[in-house]
Amino acid sequence: MKKIFIFHSIHDQRFFVFFSRILLTVEIDYTWQTYETFQTASANSPLSEMPDELFFILDKTTDCSTQIPLILSRYPNASVWVFESCEDLKRITSIFPKLTHSVELYITNAWADYVSKIVESFEKTKSAFSVTENPQVRLKSLELPEINRYFDSTTGQCLFDYSTARSTGFKITCPHCQQSYGLHLPTETHITRCRRCGSFNELKLETPAAATVPTSENKP
Ligand SMILES: [Zn+2]
Repeated sequence: MKKIFIFHSIHDQRFFVFFSRILLTVEIDYTWQTYETFQTASANSPLSEMPDELFFILDKTTDCSTQIPLILSRYPNASVWVFESCEDLKRITSIFPKLTHSVELYITNAWADYVSKIVESFEKTKSAFSVTENPQVRLKSLELPEINRYFDSTTGQCLFDYSTARSTGFKITCPHCQQSYGLHLPTETHITRCRRCGSFNELKLETPAAATVPTSENKP
């Protein structure tokens, strides 16, 4: 069984409820911690142990940019999972120097099932949610005018709603920072934000036909 530390904002209620329900159904060793109180955690608290996985829940009401590097440097061997609402992609500016998986989700039952599968994979020792089974998808860098089309100019709220789309996972490499990681998002979403460097990218899903290239056998 793996140990997970879950970091969230003291102001966040939505994700706390969402994850608490999921965690009730699995046998996992987990510890909740708020960003706001992390620096004051004492040496003999549960946080003095070494986790296998770090979950960072991002909330639009909280800027946790100061705490992220501190937390990552304290637990250098843990995998890093970042969870955030698709609605807040532009409103949250936090970035992570280390990133293993980025999950852009909606608070829905379908996403609760998907996140449950991720967490269930930690029940068995040395088992991890495998991105190697997920297809590789190419990303194209987006320019500012294109990015702005997706978000409200005053509030930053996204203008798209893929809350009823299926959840899916990909392997990606960011064209800006060259970091490779697992990306999980609704199938119909075309836009993503790299949580390593903060840049916006567009998913370029290729059809099997488009991916076909002539082989040497086709040559005369
Ligand atoms: Zn990047």
